[in-house]
Parts: sequence; C-alpha cells; structure tokens
Amino acid sequence: MQTMPGHAPGSTLDESRPTSTPNDAESVHRFAVPGFDAVARLVARSLDVPLVTLVLGDGSAYWYSTTPNPPMLPAGAPAPGFLDAARSGVAEVVLDAREDARFQPAPPATGPVGFFASEPVMTLNGHPVGALCVMDRMPRQSLSTRERTALRDAAALAGTGVVLRSYMGRTDPVSQLPHRGAFFEDLRGQLRNAHDTVWLAAIEVAPVERFNAFIRAMGHVYADALVRAVAERVQIWMSADMCLYQVGTSRLAIMLPAAHERPSDAQLHALVRLLREPFDCLGIPLTLRPGVGLLQVESSEMRGGDPLRRVMSASHAAQDSASGWAMYEHDQDERHRQDFFLVTELAAALTDRTELDLYYQPRVDLESGQCVALEALLRWHHPTLGEVLPSRFVPLAERAGLMRALTEWVLDHGLARLAVWQAQGLAIKLSFNVSGADFDADFLERLETLLARHSVDPGLLELEFTESTLMHPCDATLQHLMRIRAMGIGIAIDDFGTGYSNLASLREMPATTLKIDQSLVRSIDGSRGDAATVRSVTALARELGFRVVVEGVENASVYAAVLDMACDEAQGFHIARPMPAAAVTPWLQAYAAAPFPSRRDRSDLPR
Ligand code: C2E
Ligand code: MG
Ligand code: MG
Repeated sequence: MQTMPGHAPGSTLDESRPTSTPNDAESVHRFAVPGFDAVARLVARSLDVPLVTLVLGDGSAYWYSTTPNPPMLPAGAPAPGFLDAARSGVAEVVLDAREDARFQPAPPATGPVGFFASEPVMTLNGHPVGALCVMDRMPRQSLSTRERTALRDAAALAGTGVVLRSYMGRTDPVSQLPHRGAFFEDLRGQLRNAHDTVWLAAIEVAPVERFNAFIRAMGHVYADALVRAVAERVQIWMSADMCLYQVGTSRLAIMLPAAHERPSDAQLHALVRLLREPFDCLGIPLTLRPGVGLLQVESSEMRGGDPLRRVMSASHAAQDSASGWAMYEHDQDERHRQDFFLVTELAAALTDRTELDLYYQPRVDLESGQCVALEALLRWHHPTLGEVLPSRFVPLAERAGLMRALTEWVLDHGLARLAVWQAQGLAIKLSFNVSGADFDADFLERLETLLARHSVDPGLLELEFTESTLMHPCDATLQHLMRIRAMGIGIAIDDFGTGYSNLASLREMPATTLKIDQSLVRSIDGSRGDAATVRSVTALARELGFRVVVEGVENASVYAAVLDMACDEAQGFHIARPMPAAAVTPWLQAYAAAPFPSRRDRSDLPR
C-alpha cells in the first residue's frame, strides 16, 4: 500500500511542499499537524478509505492517501464540501456523494467521489477549527457505529495536534491566523538589509472598553467569532501577496511585501467602509468602530523600536477620526505616551500623598473690600517633572477615571484645613473645583461623610462646576445638584463664557454663583466690547439671583473697571496668587489691615 501524506497551502501558510519531502525536516516540524499521519493511517484502516483529509477553517488542508490516485485531492483551494465541513462544526455523512454538487465535478485524473464523511475538529475549549474528512470512490450503504466512533476519536486526536501545532508554531488556535511571534519573525525576515522598508497596517477591531464589554455581555466565543468575521473581511480586501496576523485579542496586522507601495487613500477608505458595514456575528447584528493605522518600518527601527506598538498607536488614534484610518504620527504618539506616564504617576501620587498640595486663592467682596472666600486649587510637584499644571493633569484624570480619587483627596485636605481656620475664628468660605465625572452614585454620601468627619458647616462650602456640566444637566445630575443645594452648599458656574451656553440657559442652571472667565475679564480695561459683555452678563446674572465673581483680575485698572460694574467679587493675581495653606492666615491678617478699595469707599484710588 502506498502512502502519500501531503499538505495544500491555506491562506495563512506559505508552504506548498508535501510534508514528507525528505530533506525538508524543518518545514515538517513547523507546519505539519503533529501526529496527523498516525491518526490518518488509523482512520484509513478502520474505515477502509483511500483518502483522509484534515481541512482547517482558514482553508489549509493536510491529506493522507493510501493510493497514488485518490478521489478529489484538496490541492489548491479545497472544494466547497470540505470548507463546509471545516467551518460548520457539525459531523456529516454523505453515503452517496455522486449527486452532491459540493463534491462535483471531480478532477478528470482522480475519478468521482462516491462517499464522504466528516467530524469537526475542536480546540481544547470546544471551539471548531476544522474537520477530519474521509472519502472513497464508491458510495456506501452505511457507516457502522464502530466506524463513526473511530472517526470521532481520530478527530479528537487531530484537534490536539492542531492545538499543539499552534503552540509550537505560528498560528493562533482560535483565529487560525499567524500570531504575534510569527509577525515579528516575518518582519525580521523582510527587513534583513540596511535599506529595506515594509509597510504595516494595524486594525483595531473596536475600542478596547467596547470590546471588553462585548466579552462581558456575550462571552469569549462571541468575541472570538467577531475577530474571525473581521479577519475574513480584511482578507477580502487584501491582495494575495499581503499577510494577515492576529497580534492581540482584538487586533490584527497586515504586512505588505517588501517594496510594496503604501495602500492608496482610496484603498484604505474601501477597507474602512468594509469594516464599518454591520457584522452578523452568531446571529447578532453589530456595527463596529474600527481603526486602521499605517506605518512604514525601516530595518534600523527593528533594533530597540517597537513597530507593532507604533502602528497600533496609529490605529488607536484612527478609531476617533472621521476617515477611520490614520498614518503613524510621532508627535501624537509621544503625547499619548506622556499622557499615559502622567496618568500612572498621578495614580501613584494619589496614594503616596506627598506630591500633591492644595493652594488657596482669595476672593474679595467688592462692596465691603473684605476677603470672603478662598478657592482651593490643586498643585502637583512631581519629583522629576517638577510642577505639573492642573490644566494638564485634570483632563487626563477625567479620561482615566481618576477623578473620584482626586476629588476625594482635594475635599478631604481642603475640609481639614477649613476646620482649622474655622477653629481659629475665621469665617471664610471655601470653594472647590468639581468635575461632572464626579457625579457617581455615592458622591453625596462621600461628601456628607467628609463634612461630618471634619465637622465643617456646609454653608461655608461652594462647589464649582464648569459651564458644560451645568448647561443641559441630565436628570441624575440635576438631582445631585438639587440635593447639594438642599444641604446648604453653594454651587458656582465656573469659567462662564468659555462654553457654548447662552445667557438664556443660565435660568435653567441650579447655581448660586456665576464666575465670569478670565478670558472675558482680562482686557476689559482696554476693550469696550469685553467691558460691555462683562457688564451685561453681570446685570443679567444678578437679575437672575446669582452672585457674580470675576476671575482673572490681573492689574489695578481691571480691578477699577470691575469695581465700577455690578459684580460682587473679584479674584485674580492682582489681589493675590494662589498660595500654600501656611501663607493664608498671614495674608488675611495683612489684607485686613490694608484692604483693597471697595464700593463703600469709592473716593479711594484703586491700588
Ligand atoms: P479655575 O477653577 O478657573 O481656577 C482659576 C485658575 O486661574 C487657576 O489656575 C488660577 O491660578 C488661575 N488664575 C487666577 N487668577 C488669575 C489671573 O489673574 N490671571 C491668570 N492668568 N490666571 C489666574 P490653576 O490653578 O492652574 O487651575 C487651572 C484649572 O484647573 C482650574 O481653573 C480648574 O478648572 C482646574 N483645577 C484646579 N484645581 C482643581 C481641583 O482640585 N479639582 C478640579 N476638578 N479641577 C481643578
Ligand atoms: Mg474654579
Ligand atoms: Mg475658573
């Protein structure tokens, strides 16, 4: 009996030689499915068939034949019958295959297929990855239980071999695509010489949080099927000389052959359009927000550089772009890296608690000239970066979900300090900056706990929210705000004039104070337009019952200008810069001795 084990290339395996080629031991080791020959020989004998084939979901096929002229070898692209079996995950027996179109027409040299049977081949966690198929020239009357069991057992053994191969070699067992290790191996192969360059495209299937939500809601089987469905669409787009890899749970990468031009804008547009079309994944329709990133790698960058990380950074950025694809940009990448570094450092600073500090900036009542409030402003002294500004780290903390911890730290320290001042007999208000991201379910409970812990009168507290948080508050936010008001705590609209709210929307904001942003205030001494704006905003806000604070009073003439308007309070570098807690009492004492001019003593010249 002659045996002819062999292997036909699938879309992922660039290997067309039969596995038994004598001096090609390495490719046997890398690509053959371990143990397949032995399993196939057993099946061929037990079922007395001349051809046993292992077909994987990606179309690659391995066969074993007892004759030099077997029925329908799956060389080249496997026939539809094989692929159906490989992808369906169910067993099939076709006792008389002569009339079955999926096995016709048989190649002239091989003769007709008379009988066909298949058993799905599974990974260890029960995921179908292919099928073990047997065939004969003649139709059969029946397949005995013993024969079926033999085929089933052999398929189970073949499954172990497939898994083993993926661990030993280059293939991801679920997607059947070459994995990250194979990606780097091939990339090194492409960039052997000093001036070699290669284009890479990376595909982020969906934003990570969304993909994790899929997994949580639907399970890993669904997520795996989704990645496979995406891979199939990408393969439709790819030309034959490109290679696709699975480089992460929800990430694919395409390697273009050396000297291949960058894909044109139109081609990239077509790829994104294809991936944005709804997917039907295990019967559940789904639309993705994919990102395609592009990077050209040079051989010199293989040392030390991480091309995969860089092209993934481009695909990540592309997810939020209108086009859905983006070229790698060094500056943007650097910014993301710094952001990431800052966020991890900030998280550490919030637990370490020696790098953060609160500064306080006075607010002066323009009617009486007295200092009536302080605004608490967070400072971060980083051991190597130095002073990091809140305008840099607060938005990062918001995006990284660190606001809860940050606000907790600020309120805890600020209230502790307010309690000390209260005990010293200072009747001063303290305002805190709070972000919309702080409004989680237990914000108010945490606030109440902190007030009780420090025995602070809620009436001495004001919370500053940006205009955008307060503009069109959702029901939950509105309820939070109402409860804050009911606790006797003031609510300020911070940076008014920087957002898009119009004056009419002020009426809907459940606030007590309006802080006019420094960008409107800074030049009111020189610009008649700005002065008119501040004057009319102030008039309307007061009419609506708000207390009006002007921010950014930087010099004496601006101070004089706001004194002339109906504003209630002024805050700015001209009065005092934000200062550490220890400087506050001395400053207040010095100020009380020589306050700024007020409306009560208008005859004084502004300082
Ligand atoms: P903000 O709440 O509007 O605070 C006023 C900002 O203007 C402060 O900047 C202050 O130093 C600055 N400033 C005060 N007077 C003048 C002036 O006359 N001229 C100029 N040019 N600037 C003046 P800072 O401390 O850098 O804070 C920036 C922003 O960061 C704050 O704006 C606030 O939105 C946010 N922030 C600061 N601390 C915290 C915090 O503890 N929590 C939250 N959520 N945000 C904070
Ligand atoms: Mg503020
Ligand atoms: Mg402000």
